[in-house]
Amino acid sequence: MFDCKHASILVSKKLDQPLSRRERIQLWTHMRICSTCRLYRKQLVGLQLLFAIASESGRVSKDDSNRLSPAQKDKISKQIYGILKSESSQED
Ligand SMILES: [Zn+2]
Repeated sequence: MFDCKHASILVSKKLDQPLSRRERIQLWTHMRICSTCRLYRKQLVGLQLLFAIASESGRVSKDDSNRLSPAQKDKISKQIYGILKSESSQED
């Protein structure tokens, strides 16, 4: 039985490594019917972005600059919008 617990494991796994064809089909099928797991995936992607932003900020501060440059902020914003857009279109 493929349940929400199994789906959440695959969502996490997908961030680190490619899923098998069987796993992708199982996850896709579950996401079509389960709004809870779709929300979970969205939050996980958001968290991943926050970590990316934090690590980027960390690198910048080591270079004697405590703030992201406007270009870096713009780049991160575009990445966030791009991911949210692709996440939404997968659900339709
Ligand atoms: Zn679910």
